[in-house]
Amino acid sequence: MALSTPLSQLSVALPTGIDGSSRSMIKVQSISFTEKSRGLLLRLDSKSRSLSVNKRSTICMSLQQASRSKVSVTPLELEDPKETPLNLYRPKEPYTATIVSVERIVGPQAPGETCHILIDHDGNVPYWEGQSYGVIPPGENPKKPGAPHNVRLYSIASTRYGDSFDGKTASLCVRRALYYDPETGKEDPSKAGVCSNFLCNSKPGDKVKITGPSGKVMLLPEDDPKATHIMIATGTGVAPFRGYLRRMFMEDVPSFKFDGLAWLFLGVANTDSLLYDEEFASYLKDYPENFRYDKALSREEKNKKGGKMYVQDKIEEYSDEIFKLLDNGAHIYFCGLKGMMPGIQDTLKRVAEERGESWEQKLTQLRKNKQWHVEVY
Ligand code: FAD
Repeated sequence: MALSTPLSQLSVALPTGIDGSSRSMIKVQSISFTEKSRGLLLRLDSKSRSLSVNKRSTICMSLQQASRSKVSVTPLELEDPKETPLNLYRPKEPYTATIVSVERIVGPQAPGETCHILIDHDGNVPYWEGQSYGVIPPGENPKKPGAPHNVRLYSIASTRYGDSFDGKTASLCVRRALYYDPETGKEDPSKAGVCSNFLCNSKPGDKVKITGPSGKVMLLPEDDPKATHIMIATGTGVAPFRGYLRRMFMEDVPSFKFDGLAWLFLGVANTDSLLYDEEFASYLKDYPENFRYDKALSREEKNKKGGKMYVQDKIEEYSDEIFKLLDNGAHIYFCGLKGMMPGIQDTLKRVAEERGESWEQKLTQLRKNKQWHVEVY
């Protein structure tokens, strides 16, 4: 399909960042949309300014006349299968995909580095939102000479259509694992994480062996488009939620018209460590009725007791609402480092007791109703 529509003096908000966020307003004289096999290409001709958009990764646009218009996705056959795609590629026969781009997505004051990694699977490794890919880094497994490295899992941070909306790519949100000697405090590169460093150091065109997709626990239940989804993330744990939120608010998916409530709690160290913040802020602007977004910045903010602000402090702040939403069938998801769960569970237990409820019973019920979804690593 090719559509060419000359329009005069049309204002276009064009997010060009890899996270589909930073918007630049320009006046264009003509605009044409061409759907090509590799996704949606947007050409802009402007007398006053010329803009070349060569990233096929993230193009979403909202016309001023219809600021909430969504992006077309293809192929819609990705909606058809009744069964979740699972383990299409296994460690013995992984799929060789290609790195499209690697972008550092945290600011200079963030402790550590997190990268957004776009991988081209050419439509051969389909997945659903909330699943993970396995990655086999190149090289030899130090524990099994001659054998490849073990698979490392990474939550997929895009929807099934990928950041290029054509079903051919997947995105990962990877934190580079570094090792600091506990005695000297010095970095020891010989002990740096193998796979995360391979991914964060990779270059466009590099090959990457992937397995999967895997995991069912974080799939987004879509039977009720008016459902409430409470998402609790620390750091890269935001990955599956970025996928959910793009599906809910960015993509035009005929079979999923979300009109419920999505509430994201994101815990990171400081403002520079926020992940996909502008993308989430744009949903807040466009869908204030359907999206809530609360951040906990542990190194910048204090909780009410004067300690560091963690996600559980934010959960406590809104505990009445959260408990009511859970009682009314809301789904709650947790994703991120394992260490996040004990603090959160303690808070939920304390709040339940203050409300005269038994947390154990409530948790059993939430699990039984399939409202409770946890993926921590
Ligand atoms: P490894 O080489 O496996 O090393 C692990 C750690 O040990 C590193 O911190 C390394 O510095 C340290 N180490 C190495 N050698 C020594 C030594 N001699 N002594 C002491 N310490 C040492 N991660 C993400 O970033 N993003 C995600 O979205 C994500 N999703 C996940 C989803 C699931 C379901 C799971 C299970 C895990 C997920 N992970 C994710 C974690 C990821 O799978 C890897 O565990 C992580 O990237 C570290 O792997 P690595 O190969 O870099 O480190």
